[in-house]
Amino acid sequence: MSTTTHAIAAPAPGAPLEQTTIQRRDLRPDDVLIDIAYAGICHSDIHQAQEDWGTAIFPMVPGHEIAGVVAAVGSNVTRYQVGDRVGVGCMVDSCGECEYCLAGTEQFCVKGNVQTYNGVGFDGENTYGGYSRQIVVKDAFVCRIPEGIELDVAAPLLCAGITTYSPLRQWGAGPGKKVAVVGLGGLGHMAVKLAVAMGAEVTVLSQSLKKQEDGKRLGATHYYATGDESTFDVLRGRFDLILNTVSAKLPVDAYLGLLRVGGAMVNVGAPGEPLSYNAFSLIGGNKTLAGSMIGGIAETQEMLDFCAEHGIGAEIETISADQVNTAYERVANSDVRYRFVIDTATIGS
Ligand code: NAP
Ligand code: ZN
Repeated sequence: MSTTTHAIAAPAPGAPLEQTTIQRRDLRPDDVLIDIAYAGICHSDIHQAQEDWGTAIFPMVPGHEIAGVVAAVGSNVTRYQVGDRVGVGCMVDSCGECEYCLAGTEQFCVKGNVQTYNGVGFDGENTYGGYSRQIVVKDAFVCRIPEGIELDVAAPLLCAGITTYSPLRQWGAGPGKKVAVVGLGGLGHMAVKLAVAMGAEVTVLSQSLKKQEDGKRLGATHYYATGDESTFDVLRGRFDLILNTVSAKLPVDAYLGLLRVGGAMVNVGAPGEPLSYNAFSLIGGNKTLAGSMIGGIAETQEMLDFCAEHGIGAEIETISADQVNTAYERVANSDVRYRFVIDTATIGS
């Protein structure tokens, strides 16, 4: 037994998305049924729907920035009740027993975390994501959306928010630190807001100056165009931390040159092609080149509470189901300000 729900799916790699219906499982004792209100469009959805990262599972219902309201709970669920405002991010399960799960970093589960979509659950069933009217998720992978953040601007926090919050915290963004955010898209604009709220001095490094006013409004102190070569001379040795959110290949050595001695460049952008660097770009200055993957469930809740406390939500453009393919094209062309969010009530209506 299961329930049928309306969804938007990519039928094959690179094919246009189309409306369809999918099955959601009946509630297990520790499951929560969520009426999804909004689902953000992350560039990772596009990478996976195009198989930029390798073979994927089709049909694919993307979406790992999910905000909605609890519609029913399983018999053992105590932490959520019908009517609660909740969110789901990039994972829906993990083994719960390995050292990484026990440390609250379920994304590194040794058995592999179960991705919200393009994944296979421990029951062997394919997972389908948030471009849908309803989803069933184990309660331990559901977060509470605090009062004070509307569901539409909360949805992108579940991936773009946590993916930038986690490395900013890990690498000490705060008062007295100069942080550069590379790429002002979905992740980048969240990184600016979060790093500013943490007290860092923030510089945006964007391909052009087109979005400069927005960057300053979001709290950045400085804004430079990376298309202008002089930027790399002017900013040489400037930053403690560079957060690279770019979805394409970057000349890493040029960016490492912008770090202070001992500084770190952290990649969260995940292009399909490899990045390369010269060893001397790190050696000459004891620099670090690092990566960061989303964040654990407890840290995701911490991020949501931080956002509520600081009045932070995503800057969004709300779209209906029939605009998803156009939105994908616009994201691919860096023409997003700054996150598309699907009003899921328009799916199947
Ligand atoms: P997005 O909204 O498309 O933003 C990416 C930004 O990168 C663009 O707005 C653009 O900013 C810049 N950019 C794009 N193409 C470029 C190019 N050829 N050269 C230089 N800059 C370019 O994407 P997103 O949703 O923020 O995701 C960004 C990346 O993070 C994706 O690869 C995604 O898969 C990855 N991601 C990783 C994690 C993780 O756990 N590590 C989680 C979520 C997403 P400007 O116009 O300002 O230059
Ligand atoms: Zn994402």
